[in-house]
Amino acid sequence: MKIACLQFAPEVGLVQQNIQRAEAILQNTRIPSDLDWLVLPELAFSGYNFQSLEEIRPFLEPTASGISTQWAQQVAKHYHCHVTIGYPEITVPETNPHDLQTQYNSIVTISPQGMVLNHYRKSFLYYTDETWASEGPASKSHNLSNPASPDSPFFAGELGTLGKVTLGICMDINPYKFTAPWSAYEFASRAQAAQSPVICVSMAWLCHLTPLELAQDPSQPDVATVAYWVERFQPLVEARGEKPVYVILANRCGMEKGVCYAGSSTVIKIEKGVVSLYETAGKSEEKCLIVDLADRPKFQVRSGR
Ligand code: GLN
Repeated sequence: MKIACLQFAPEVGLVQQNIQRAEAILQNTRIPSDLDWLVLPELAFSGYNFQSLEEIRPFLEPTASGISTQWAQQVAKHYHCHVTIGYPEITVPETNPHDLQTQYNSIVTISPQGMVLNHYRKSFLYYTDETWASEGPASKSHNLSNPASPDSPFFAGELGTLGKVTLGICMDINPYKFTAPWSAYEFASRAQAAQSPVICVSMAWLCHLTPLELAQDPSQPDVATVAYWVERFQPLVEARGEKPVYVILANRCGMEKGVCYAGSSTVIKIEKGVVSLYETAGKSEEKCLIVDLADRPKFQVRSGR
């Protein structure tokens, strides 16, 4: 399976400019003709750092039918691959126009034929999301004693010809509201219970580096962030499974109103308790990272305990 992560630096509210930025990167990348999946960051074209519902309102898109979804449909058909993209969703009242509308931080996945295959609403919200979005429907009722139940948070299931996949958005891999125990590993446990060989997380992950530090060695990853991500998949490492599990972490880079993003998009393989890394984008690098899961990963990170 061939995967591409389009890492770039969108700016808050500059939708047209952000689209042009993403397209320019795609045009400068040799996209393999047999690419299976192109993954974009969380809230890819709206930007991420909105402080209120009022601020994000002009950029909300109707469920799986706004500008991000339409763009993904065109690109999916053009490259004949699946496309997953994050966008700020507002629900469309089904019958009564006075029905309450709800906002979600969502990702939509499109098939190579341009059909909407899956729509997922972020379960675990980060502080910024809480100012405008509601939790995905299954979040509150998550039942860790039976993580495969339909009430579980996150998505785990068949995703077209990609097969069994677990999907999440950024904060989903953290402990719920940062108050659940670290060792609950809600997201990794769900992926493990569902036995998904492929896990994909679309992100706008922040980092603690200063703007100056971020600009130094832009093509080097932020190792602390990558190590943190790997740590959040520890249950899969400790399971020492014979069958490999692939984890796609598609982040954004750049800055918004003083907030710095970690870039460092990466694809990881976890097999028999060993974690290895195929390739990692730099922390401040706009690029389309392409990984063939059939290749040998470049770096071994560490073995399970
Ligand atoms: N914990 C993540 C971070 O620190 C969450 C951000 C997000 O959900 N976008 O970046």
